[in-house]
Amino acid sequence: MSARNVLAIAAHPDDIEFLMAGTLVLLGEAGYGLHYMNLANGCCGSTEVDAATIAGIRQDEARQAAASIGAEFHESICNDLEIFYDQATLARVASVIRLVQPTIVLTHGPSDYMEDHMNACRLAVTAAFSRGMPNFPVQPPREAYGDPLTVYHAQPYSHRDPLGQLVLPQYFVNVEPVARQKWDMLRCHQSQKKWLDESQGLDSYLQTMKDLDTELGDISGRFQAAEGWRRHLHLGFCEAEDDPLLEALGDNIFMAGEES
Ligand SMILES: [Zn+2]
Repeated sequence: MSARNVLAIAAHPDDIEFLMAGTLVLLGEAGYGLHYMNLANGCCGSTEVDAATIAGIRQDEARQAAASIGAEFHESICNDLEIFYDQATLARVASVIRLVQPTIVLTHGPSDYMEDHMNACRLAVTAAFSRGMPNFPVQPPREAYGDPLTVYHAQPYSHRDPLGQLVLPQYFVNVEPVARQKWDMLRCHQSQKKWLDESQGLDSYLQTMKDLDTELGDISGRFQAAEGWRRHLHLGFCEAEDDPLLEALGDNIFMAGEES
């Protein structure tokens, strides 16, 4: 596969929109092919309809959000709260890695408020790690390959770890220029918007996303709205100096501590 791809692997429908969407849009503008996978189907995201119904609705919403930025959608493989770090799930995620052969994998932070997020992260990391191991069986079966890839971890939701400590990113990405697309992507998740509007006030869902990006923008000291990333150690993935996210995003990214 010659074109460069980025694969976002998150836990639930709407996690990509909250934590990664601005970066994805910018990578698309930089020429990357965009791929999109929520491991869980969103089946617990309603108190009104049954699991199968809400999972169907949320899959449609997530597909719509992915389509709005031209991202290829990969099917969910788990129920909510059932993203486990087990062989069967790992084999499914690893198969998607071998299919997409991404240069960049975007996934959750290793420490986040929900176990689903942390397990999605662990699955993404090992799936990426196993890409060149023909003796690791993936489902559906696909050939191992050896190209390098670089894994980046998103900010935990609320920029805090499960013990409430602020997590600072290594890279800040300027999402101000693509704020409209990011907003529109999250708006695709109408079932969640309605639920949270009723319980927490009008547009709270969208406002929360905006507030989180603004908070990180303030921390960056450079951008009005930002997403944050930390690069996974290169061992088993790429060369020590490989940093395709930093390379691709030009003036819309900087490393913490770098002079402005
Ligand atoms: Zn989530």
